Amino acid sequence: MENELDLLVKIQGFDYEVKEAKARLTQLPKEITRLEKEIETKEEDLKHSETRIQELKKTYKLKELEIADNEGKINKLNTQTFAVKTNEEYRALLNEVEFLKKGNSEVEDEMLSILEEEENIENSIDKSRTEAKEYVDTKKAKIDDLRNECESMQEKQKTAEAKLEDNLAKLPNDLEELYGKIARVRGTAVCMITNNTCTGCYANLTHQFLNELKKRNKILLCGNCGRILVYTEPNK
Ligand SMILES: [Zn+2]
Repeated sequence: MENELDLLVKIQGFDYEVKEAKARLTQLPKEITRLEKEIETKEEDLKHSETRIQELKKTYKLKELEIADNEGKINKLNTQTFAVKTNEEYRALLNEVEFLKKGNSEVEDEMLSILEEEENIENSIDKSRTEAKEYVDTKKAKIDDLRNECESMQEKQKTAEAKLEDNLAKLPNDLEELYGKIARVRGTAVCMITNNTCTGCYANLTHQFLNELKKRNKILLCGNCGRILVYTEPNK
């Protein structure tokens, strides 16, 4: 029959594996969500520049229409000047033409600054697109890795749980219960001893007690923390 102490050590190993897998499985979805968020932000930034270009193009077209509209008005006014009867009317028409021309020149200035801004964005957007693609691809690859890790971790958990269960079944009922109880309270139920200290609570063990442990023929608990102590050879 397998030594109960060795069996306990083995059980604790599987117990750890299960716990580690569970902890990692809690962490992984959070990491994936974080990466997805980063991708989203990057794509939004890029979309913002693209939207701005569209806005500028639209505004530019409106300004062009405004100018054409004013030109039409100016032409009409110029034609009217031939028909006026008084100097006063004539001056009034010219004033109106001047006003419209001045307006158009302002609109043209605005169009220039629109073109300038558009050009600036266009110049940097190709680089931004390339950078964003690289950034997103890298993050997506990382997400794939994490998803794969998730799957293998689930597999690992299942395997460790099965082994844990198998080995727990090999223990006498009262020992299985004791193990479970200490593990629930202390986290670690079994402590390996190589010198004269409990590795769970660092309490010193007496020589007499250590000699008893070295015999490895019964279940002995730490007098301080209550964990199961297992003596192992220092080089083992
Ligand atoms: Zn202890």
